[in-house]
Amino acid sequence: SEGFPPDLAERVARRYASFGASSVLFYEQPIEMVRARGAYMYDVDGRQYLDVYNNVPSVGHCHPRVVEAIARQAGELNIHTRYLNRVVEAYSERLLASFPEGLDNVVMTCTGSESNDLAMRIARIAAGAEGFIVTEAAYHGNTALVTEVSPSSLRRRRSAPFVSIVPAPAALEGTSVEESFAASVEQAIVELRARGVGLAALIVDTIFSSDGIYADPAGFLREAAGVVKRAGGLLIADEVQPGFGRTGGGLWGFERHGVTPDIVTMGKPMGNGFPMGGVVTRSELLKRFCEETGYFNTFGGNPVAAAAGNAVLQVIEEEGLVERSATVGSYLRQSLRSLQKSHAEIGDVRGAGLFLGLDFIDPATGEPDVALASHAINQMKQKGILIGAAGKYGATLKIRPPLCFSTENADFFSATLDAILKAR
Ligand code: PMP
Repeated sequence: SEGFPPDLAERVARRYASFGASSVLFYEQPIEMVRARGAYMYDVDGRQYLDVYNNVPSVGHCHPRVVEAIARQAGELNIHTRYLNRVVEAYSERLLASFPEGLDNVVMTCTGSESNDLAMRIARIAAGAEGFIVTEAAYHGNTALVTEVSPSSLRRRRSAPFVSIVPAPAALEGTSVEESFAASVEQAIVELRARGVGLAALIVDTIFSSDGIYADPAGFLREAAGVVKRAGGLLIADEVQPGFGRTGGGLWGFERHGVTPDIVTMGKPMGNGFPMGGVVTRSELLKRFCEETGYFNTFGGNPVAAAAGNAVLQVIEEEGLVERSATVGSYLRQSLRSLQKSHAEIGDVRGAGLFLGLDFIDPATGEPDVALASHAINQMKQKGILIGAAGKYGATLKIRPPLCFSTENADFFSATLDAILKAR
């Protein structure tokens, strides 16, 4: 904290004194945030920031409809799920109605990690096997089991023997993305078998956020899904990032790929900031799991969460946020692609809906430029924009604003990026 104003230095020191090594703060100089609304956040000095990376407050920070629903339900009843409650039942039916036929049961949890943990346990019992396939820079959560399929979290050691890692989806020489991803998955199954491990599931974030945002061509998951099915494994679609309209082509990211997963997991935007998650699967899979251990989650699916979740679905529908994600997302993608013409350090610009990845590269070598990504992120902060990075190298800008983002917001973002690159 050298060079910080003295009061900020003291605050940071106190924070580290109590939170210890697990404390991670963004930016060279951390920001003290006090409130937010729509696509904007405000710091302690009243400075406004355009939020271009928070996908939790997906329908907009502190959306009045969601806030009101939470407050009203908190003042009426908040309890676990072992009583009948109309708010909870109405929510689960409404949520399930958005899924393809067959995905007819939901288990409520509090986080994406809990959802993936449960999904993996269901898959193991259904497949009668222990192995998982995951992409190389994926993140699926923080429990002991889920950390094993989160290569981006494993700093000092290799993943467990029951995990096989595949590269993020990309077209290799002479193949399509669909073919090469399916071939990697096929290879991973062979590797697992060689270790004496059968396949329980392929777990994928259907927009590959941590891997660096890989969305296209839509449909590329189909062949890999077939490979997994033929091997007796399940497909777990982690919709924590792409879910709830983010990709602009419906509520769920897997829909873009024309596949029906065996298990779908949800979190982050589900309650627009109220902690809630969920697992959707076929009733026979859940039944087999419950015969083994049952599942209880004290706070999962409490009436306040259900009220928040219901308000989120309502706002998405009433404000046409799926369509907005598609139109504003494609407007922003076009505008960033046109910046490529004047800035050779902008590599690929890709994504779906309001979830875009922009690679920074060294124009001479085409290699990822992590230093430039970090420079851009800190400069953006100076200019009132919050943004983060993703990908194997951390050289990909992760553009993922609340879905109420406007074309004016998009213009401001593109113009700011242009100015930062020109000023280098
Ligand atoms: N899956 C994905 C794809 C995620 O990005 C995350 C969180 N970053 C999780 C799961 C875990 O969710 P949570 O932090 O709510 O446990």
